[in-house]
This record gives sequence, C-alpha cells and structure tokens, in this order.
Amino acid sequence: MGVRGKAAMEIDPQRSALMSRIGPRDTKPELVVRRLLHRMGYRFRLHRRGLPGKPDIVFPSWRKLIDVRGCFWHRHSDPACVNSVLPLTRRDWWSAKLQGNVDRDARNLRVLADLGWETLVVWECETRNPESLVPRLVGFLGPPNTKSVHKSIGDKIERKARKNRSF
Ligand SMILES: [Zn+2]
Repeated sequence: MGVRGKAAMEIDPQRSALMSRIGPRDTKPELVVRRLLHRMGYRFRLHRRGLPGKPDIVFPSWRKLIDVRGCFWHRHSDPACVNSVLPLTRRDWWSAKLQGNVDRDARNLRVLADLGWETLVVWECETRNPESLVPRLVGFLGPPNTKSVHKSIGDKIERKARKNRSF
C-alpha cells in the first residue's frame, strides 16, 4: 500500500527522504490510470525524457499528456482531499518542502503549454474510483479509436508496406 491519508501525516523525515529517493515513478495511482487508458483503447508513451517533469503518460501525435499527481507530495488543493493534509509536526519544514514541488509543477505546466502541449492533471484521490475518470479522459483525449488513432495505425501499416516494397 502507498503512504497516504493518516499514514502520510505520521511519517518521519528520514523515512520521507527514503521515499523521495524511491521517487514518484510507477506509483499505484499512475498504474491505475495507465490500465484504465489501455482498457479504453488508448495507446501512449511513458515518462518521455526531454519534456519538463518527464510526464507520466504522453500522447505524442496529439501533443497531449496526463500528469498523475500524488496528493500529499504535490499538495492537492481540493479541500475535500484527505491525502493532502500537512503533517502535524515540523509543519514549516513540510510546508516549504512541498511548496517547492507545487512551484515546480506550475513551472513545468507553463513550459509544456508554451511548447504546445496540453496537460490533464489527475490526482491520486481521483484514481480510487477509476470509472469516474472515464468521461474526463474521453473529454480530454477525444474518444478512443477515432480517426486519428486509425490514421496513426494506418500510417504505420503504410510505412511498413513502403518499407517492404523497397526490398
Ligand atoms: Zn487528492
């Protein structure tokens, strides 16, 4: 189980340092979104380097990406979110540390937008009920198996055919 909710409030700094070394990659919420997208028929790339923040889920041909954020580490600002509560001890230290993450997230979003990328942010607490994400994902990406999906598959087949012809 990931550290969330009450457990997150009780972690000591040493443990948190260990967890930050483990890093945010391949955390459970991200896997939930990836599995859901796959089931819905979307295909995507992972952790693309060369883009700020190495976004989790990338749709290069649509220039869209999905950023799955842990509510505690990235301070989900929804008052209904129980995961983003600041620890009871060393609040200033935590506040500064987590604010650094929030600032970096905002900076990355701006740079990505400047580069022409559209970003959908999905929060950890929203992945607890994956089905509720379906309309948002479709709204952001467009329905799966649209023309552009067929087109990219078609392009691939076409490229393959051309390649074969040249031999
Ligand atoms: Zn949340």
